[in-house]
Amino acid sequence: MNNQLSDRINSLATSATLAMAAKARELRTEGKDIIGLSLGEPDFNTPDFIKDAAIQAVNDNYNSYTPVDGYVELKDAIITKFKRDNGLDYEYPQIVVSTGAKQALYNVAQVCLNPGDEVILPCPYWVSYSDIVKLAEGVPVEVATSIDTDFKMTPEQLEAAITPKTKMLWYSSPCNPSGSIYSKEELRALADVLKKYPNIVVVSDEIYEHINYVGGHASMAQFEDMYDRTVTVNGVAKAFAMTGWRIGYIGAPAYIARACNKIQGQVTSGANCIAQRAVITALEAPVSKIQYMVDEFKIRRSLILELLGGIEGFKCNEPEGAFYVFPDVSYYFGKTLKGKEIKNASDFAMYLLEEANVATVTGDAFGEPKSIRISYAASQEQIKEAISRIKAALS
Ligand code: PMP
Ligand code: GLU
Repeated sequence: MNNQLSDRINSLATSATLAMAAKARELRTEGKDIIGLSLGEPDFNTPDFIKDAAIQAVNDNYNSYTPVDGYVELKDAIITKFKRDNGLDYEYPQIVVSTGAKQALYNVAQVCLNPGDEVILPCPYWVSYSDIVKLAEGVPVEVATSIDTDFKMTPEQLEAAITPKTKMLWYSSPCNPSGSIYSKEELRALADVLKKYPNIVVVSDEIYEHINYVGGHASMAQFEDMYDRTVTVNGVAKAFAMTGWRIGYIGAPAYIARACNKIQGQVTSGANCIAQRAVITALEAPVSKIQYMVDEFKIRRSLILELLGGIEGFKCNEPEGAFYVFPDVSYYFGKTLKGKEIKNASDFAMYLLEEANVATVTGDAFGEPKSIRISYAASQEQIKEAISRIKAALS
């Protein structure tokens, strides 16, 4: 029988972050000592107070289907969180809980995009955005930025990218992979451009909100003129070290939230019941309870920047949030190292994997072909060892 797969899946890229993590796992089973700095996943355990809530939920017999858009008590906790942390007022019909922020983003693309609708993605963008958009038959429109502007899109660039087909703008702040954070003034300047285009919907992915080393998180929906057309995406994976629990959520215009509820009802139903109960406890806790992880990430950020500063050809911006560095390594393109030709960032990442046994991710996957992404959600010892191996492999 021929390949009976759809064109849709045949043209879909494999998630580069997950693929690199799988490759690292495979090499480890072959006995190689791989340091994995490819996956954006805190190396902390989920805090005990959240685990206890999950155990309690099991014992309290939370085992049935949940409402498709999430338990009411979880929606209460999300509404209170949005008000407390972001000054945003949402009501029940505007909230949808999903199986990770990833599903939340997928839902939004599916319910908002018609074939050919354009979605502006400032580069670098999180790896899955472009394929989630393509799955909904949308057209990603990449806007190149550079390390010289801290990888942020300017209002002029936004204006230049808008066409009659533009339906949405998607970005993350703090940004995965660059760590850049849009200030309130910078968001206002983008919103001013959008004033002229009232039908463009914005997806503001704020999953790294709490992993911020400079303070001051701004949300697009805080602007009155943007509130009715902004989808605020968030989740617990990063700040609460809950990647495997798979809970994300949106605060959105009610008509978009209703549509997400409808699609989710046909595809997955409500998210996992035990995880939802645990997330109520996570979101109700003061943010100070997770600060120890952010403090540790901050130390690691300084460490990795200092160590990379000692390697020729790594040009880094200082990430203000998230837990990645995104060095421009184009210095190495066109060079031959240990008989291997480095033509691009993918070759470079592969070289680091093979010669230094360190897994990173090529910047191509994030729409920025000059860089690689290195996650510093790893112990200080692992970071030191990884960077010293990289240095040795390049010298
Ligand atoms: N958005 C960004 C920017 C991310 O880095 C991630 C990482 N997984 C997600 C969304 C998806 O998060 P989740 O694990 O909650 O699906
Ligand atoms: N968001 C993380 C990353 O960028 C997790 C992997 C994924 O979901 O793709 O590495």
